[in-house]
Order: sequence, then structure tokens, then C-alpha cells
Amino acid sequence: TVGINDDVTGTSLPIDEKIDAAPAGAICCKFYGLGSDGTVGANKNSIKIIGDHTDKYAQAYFAYDSKKSGGITISHLRFGDKPIQSSYLIDSADFIACHNPSYVLRYDMLSDAKDGSIFLLNSIWTPEEMDEKLPAEMKRVIASKKLRFYTIDAQAIAAKIGLGNRTNTVMQAAFFKLANVIPYEDAEKYMKDAIKYTYGKKGDAVVNMNCAAIDNAISGLVEVKYPADWAKATTGAAPIPLADDDYFLKVINPILAQKGDELPVSAFNADGSVPTGTTKFEKRGVAVAVPQWIKDNCIQCNKCSIVCPHATIRPVLKTAEELKDKPAGFETKPAIGFKGYEYRMQVSPYDCLGCKSCVNVCPAKEKALVMKPIDEMIAAEAANWDYAASLSDTSATYNKSTVKGSQFSRPLFEFSGACAGCGETPYVKLITQLFGDRMVVANATGCSSIYGGSAPTCPYTKNEKGHGPAWANSLFEDNAEFGYGMNLAYKQRRDLLAAQIEKLEEMFAEWPEGKAACREWLDNKDDAEGSKIASEKLLAAIESCKDCGCDADALEKEIYKNKDCLVKKSIWIFGGDGWAYDIGYGGLDHVIAMGEDVNILVLDTEVYSNTGGQASKSTPTGAVAKFAAAGKAVKKKDLGMMAMSYGYVYVAQVSMGANDAQCVKAIAEAEAYKGPSIIIAYAPCINHGIKMENSMLEMKKAVDCGYWQLYRYNPDLALKGENAFILDSKEPTGDFKEFILGETRYASLRKTHPDVADKLFDANEAQAKARLEGYKRLAGKE
Ligand code: SF4
Ligand code: SF4
Ligand code: MG
Repeated sequence: TVGINDDVTGTSLPIDEKIDAAPAGAICCKFYGLGSDGTVGANKNSIKIIGDHTDKYAQAYFAYDSKKSGGITISHLRFGDKPIQSSYLIDSADFIACHNPSYVLRYDMLSDAKDGSIFLLNSIWTPEEMDEKLPAEMKRVIASKKLRFYTIDAQAIAAKIGLGNRTNTVMQAAFFKLANVIPYEDAEKYMKDAIKYTYGKKGDAVVNMNCAAIDNAISGLVEVKYPADWAKATTGAAPIPLADDDYFLKVINPILAQKGDELPVSAFNADGSVPTGTTKFEKRGVAVAVPQWIKDNCIQCNKCSIVCPHATIRPVLKTAEELKDKPAGFETKPAIGFKGYEYRMQVSPYDCLGCKSCVNVCPAKEKALVMKPIDEMIAAEAANWDYAASLSDTSATYNKSTVKGSQFSRPLFEFSGACAGCGETPYVKLITQLFGDRMVVANATGCSSIYGGSAPTCPYTKNEKGHGPAWANSLFEDNAEFGYGMNLAYKQRRDLLAAQIEKLEEMFAEWPEGKAACREWLDNKDDAEGSKIASEKLLAAIESCKDCGCDADALEKEIYKNKDCLVKKSIWIFGGDGWAYDIGYGGLDHVIAMGEDVNILVLDTEVYSNTGGQASKSTPTGAVAKFAAAGKAVKKKDLGMMAMSYGYVYVAQVSMGANDAQCVKAIAEAEAYKGPSIIIAYAPCINHGIKMENSMLEMKKAVDCGYWQLYRYNPDLALKGENAFILDSKEPTGDFKEFILGETRYASLRKTHPDVADKLFDANEAQAKARLEGYKRLAGKE
């Protein structure tokens, strides 16, 4: 018998008694939201409103997946006149709301609906369009359970009043109107009071917009009068095709469909490893609008591609002959700088998060990208994307270490669960484009470990040869050492391999080709490209004679077993400022002091982003964060200067949106440097209180006003007798105060602590100036 645990006795009750366990008259509501769309926040508010203002009992439970945003959230809310002791998820609901239209094809939301209950769907579809937009299965449930079906275009309402895609308030008002838990007039008053309380700190404009959302919501509610024959529907929207991949079908898909609890433990690998390259199966389709490429306007700079946090817009560079089987809509234009090649910018409508970052950076005189509704773009571009993804890498030769060139390399980090418009992932993606095929990553806990490894999928992927990053996550407090250990392990294994290959070289004394292959590898062992070429030659030589019966056979087999070590590895240690400046600093300092060839990327959001915005040692003076509610009183630590003090550490500060060329150059130099390297990358974050579509612009403003400095410190230059420190920032021109007041993390301080706000902001500005003066002195530009 299926049963539930009784709270008191711990015994299992039969399923029909479980329904009785919910007190009579309790109203049960389920809400399907998209992570960070505000659904959970609004539901917490609704629970408080009803709990605080009525005699009713209220209960809420929120279930999430692990995406940073854009994942699924399910809110379970119960309201009743008697105490509620139902310690299980709602499986018999009076009200079900779906806040994201793409879910109608993804989740079984209505099997838990009671007969005659209410289903509210946020969508841009008219009642007439529902017949075509809903899948047959869903229509059958709606009609056979005689659901009261409503739709609302919350997106349009929110956008009209300036709330962007924050639809939570609209949906909350619709809930109160339909679910009728308390009289709507009372609910309206309480919601508006709650808005003033919640958003008061963010300013009057935000309060007024949210109040307007409530006023506009009710008039936007439309009841869908569906025909009775939906009960027998056999046609409707086609289900999303499932990828034909064993691991996907056995493990990933059940978890994505919210049925992961039913998987046996034996479905997983015993060593905890998972296949990479599996985010491509998700096809989340969560964007509302997706960019369309306007061929004639495009100047082929590839800037849209480099900034895309999700790797969902990529250039195609192929000859006409290579494209002879292209689909009809796959338009191209002659490639600039690549004679005989055709160029196209291709978007993946199902994977794009609609952040608009690409559109905002497009420098074409008339924008070569415009946002279009996702439905339209799926119809126009889904097949084109599939075709582009099926193409092999370009045969053209290009310089990877440039902005444009870097983007012709396949990203080996794609479709991660990062926030739309994330300021961190463009750096991670770029690094995989440059070194991904021989990369090993130790990732500190934080946002980058969540979007880097959100079960059940993995955004790190492989190129057409099957080479790609190996990735693992460790703790905040030991990640630098974790990466250092990986480096030592490879070093030890490769030294052993070198000794074996030296021996093999001697054994091949009579075979010139074999001997030459050994020598070439030994001479190029620590050279990235050289070791790749030499490895292929050496492997070919070994393969040709490993079972020939000669004396070298046993040694050849040993070498062959360790062939994963033949190519020089690119060791990376990733983490945020909470790790690098703060909890993991002791280890980071130790690792850079050891002088080994490891690369460190610090994704500096100036706050602990993943855990909700606590102050770190990177948080600047005057910024509001948790544990710094009155504005951080002391100054940001200069991690770069601390690393430079060793003299043998490569150090750079970058900000992609400000200077993408400097960013690519610094990353390439850091990796090539044969010692420890650290790159500190400025990364705007939702915790800054900015519109994330502008994250690249914020990076630029931060540099223009002197808030963030760009530099490179390359110890190799000192060996050549040159100044190791190069200041890449120009003299600031932007308005410092205007920049910081454009971000809520600073602006809110003027409201909450007007007495100290400007003093702290002045101190922040003075510190930034002093930092710049110090850098100028180092650069010899005093
Ligand atoms: Fe990438 Fe955002 Fe542009 Fe979509 S809208 S292609 S996610 S940059
Ligand atoms: Fe073309 Fe604009 Fe992309 Fe540049 S940023 S490649 S001009 S679409
Ligand atoms: Mg951070």
C-alpha cells in the first residue's frame, strides 16, 4: 500500500486516510514557478498576509531545484480553520498556478488537481489559442476534471508598468482573486501594505510599480471556456522530443520531470562521477524573448558571442561547400577576413535565457540583434541551431587569443543554470574556449560550483575529439589546495611518463621514426600545442608496434595506460571572492607561494553571492550586504597587490564589458606563464541590484569611473628588464557617485542610513583613487 507517515505514531497510513489527514475545509494550493521569477517570495508574502490578518491557519513548503535561476520552484500552501498537520506535499489541490507557459509541455501539473478546482496559467496565449498550445493530455485532464481554467498575460502587464519580467505581484493578485481564501478587497489592502514593507527600501518607484501590478492584474484575468470534447482530445502541442541518450533517459530525464525520488541508487555511478555535456539535453525554453540575427546589419565582431553567459549564440564559419546541406532558413554572408568562407550568427532558442546581454553589446550601427517572442524564434531557429550544432569545427585558421578569434572555438561550458545575464559565466566559458580540451578545474563552492555542476546535468562538455574539461568541486576552505593537489598528481604522473619515454627512446635506437617521436614529445612535454602534436605522433608510433612481440611491448603498454597525461594540462582553480579573499584565502596564499604552474580565476562579485549576499573582504566601503546592513565600514582588500608582492606570480584584473581584448589577452598570458597566475575578474551579480541585461555595461561603467582598474603584472617582463606592471585602465572619465548610486547595493544606504551614506561613498571613491595612484606608480606613470 502506498502510505504516508503519521506525524505522531510514525506508522504508515493507507492512502485514503491521508486525504482525511488534511483538515476539512483546508484550501490547498500549488504554484509552479521559475527560479528567481519571484513566485516563492510572493507566496511567502501571501502566507504572512493570511496568517497575520485572519484567524486562519497557514502552512507553506517550498521545493526548489538547484539552478541559480530559471529552474523550477513548487510552492505548496495550505490554509484552514483548524490546525494543519499535513507533513507531506500537496497531492490534492484546490488551486494550481503555472507561472511559466513552457511548463505545460514539461511537467504533469494537473494530476494533483481536485475535480472542479482552479487552474491559472500565465501565458501570452488567447483562450482561442489554448487548443493548439496545450498538449492533448493536459486538455483531457482539464475537461475530465471540469477544472475552472483561467489565463493571464502577466508578462505583458509587468512589462507595461516597468517591472520587466517580475511577474510575481501580478500572479499573487490573481491568486487572491481566484482562490478566494479571504475577501479580495482585504487581500488587496494587505498586499499593498506588504509591498511597502518589502520594497520600501528600494524606493518609491518600485513600490508604485508593484501596486500598479495589483491594479492591472484583475482586469487581465480571462476565463478559458473550453469545449467539453477536450476530455477526449488527441491533438495539441507536440511534446518536447527526448534526446536519444542512455544516461539522459535513465537518469537525467526522470530527475528533470520531478520523478528523481523514484530512481534506485544503482542508477548512479558508484564513484560519484557523471558524464559531461548533458545540459544540451535540457532544452529548457524558459526565455520569453530570444534574439533574432539581422544578417545585413552584422559587422561580424563576435562580441555578442563572447558576452553570452549561456553559450547560446555562436558564430558559424564554414565554406559554401561545407554548408551545402543547410536548411532553407540558414542564411549566411561572406565572412570578413576569411576568404572563401561564409559567416552566420546562430542562436539556440531553447537554451537562450533571454537576458539581452548580446543585444546590448552589439556595436553595429543598427543593431544586428533584436528580441523576438520565443515561439516565433523556436519555429524559425530551432532546426537551424540543430544543424549548426551538428557541424564540425571550422576549418579556417584564426587567432584564438583575440576577441573575434576566441569565439570560433567551441565553448566547452554551455547552457549552465546560472542567472540570466550572469557576470561570471562569460569568463568561465571563454577560458574553456581557449584551453578546454586540456583543462582540469578545481571549483570552490559558490555560484560557480552550483551552475558548474547542478545535478542532474553538467554544463562542461567535450569537443568533437571527445576532449573537454574535467571538473570537480571542493569546499570553500580548501579549494586552492584541491587544485594544487591535482597539479601535483599530474606532475608526478607526467614525470614518471617522461622517464618511461626516455627509456623507450633508447629502446627505439634502431627505429628512427619511433625514436624521433619520443624525442619530440620529450622536447615539447610542457608546451601546450607542441605536446598535443607530439602526443599524436607518439601514440601512433606506439600503436603501430605495441603488440609486435619486441622487448619494448611491456613499456609501451605502461605508457599507453597513461596516455591521458601526454598532453600538457591546463590546471585551473575557480571560485568567487567569498572563497578567494575570505574563507579560502589561507590556502590560496599558500598555493601561489609554492610557485607551481596553476591558474586561478577569481569571479569577484564583491559579495557572497550564492548564499544570498553576505559581505566578504572584497565588499567595498559603503556597499550594503548581509552583516553590513549599515554599509561596509572598512575598505576592500587588494588581493592583486598581495599576490604581486611575491614577485613571481602573474596577476591581472579584468572586466570583460569594459575591455574584452584586455580580458582575452590577460587570460592567455596567465595560462602561458610557467608559474602561478591569478586573474581577478569583475562580475556583476543580481545581488548588486542592477538589471542583469546591463551587466556588461556595468562592467564598463565600473572601469570608466575608476571604480575598478584593469592591469596585468607579468613577471616574465621583469626577466627581460622591462616593467612587469602594465596599467590597462585609462584615466577615469565617468562619474563615480553616479555609477555606485545606479546599483541598489549602494543606493539603498541613502534611504536606510542617510546620516552615514555619503561619508562612506566618499571614502569608497577616495580609496579607489588611492588604489589607482598606487597602480600608476607601479606602471611608472606617476
Ligand atoms: Fe545569450 Fe542572453 Fe543573448 Fe540569449 S539573450 S543569446 S542568453 S546573451
Ligand atoms: Fe554581429 Fe552584433 Fe554579434 Fe557583432 S555583436 S557579431 S555585429 S550580431
Ligand atoms: Mg562572490
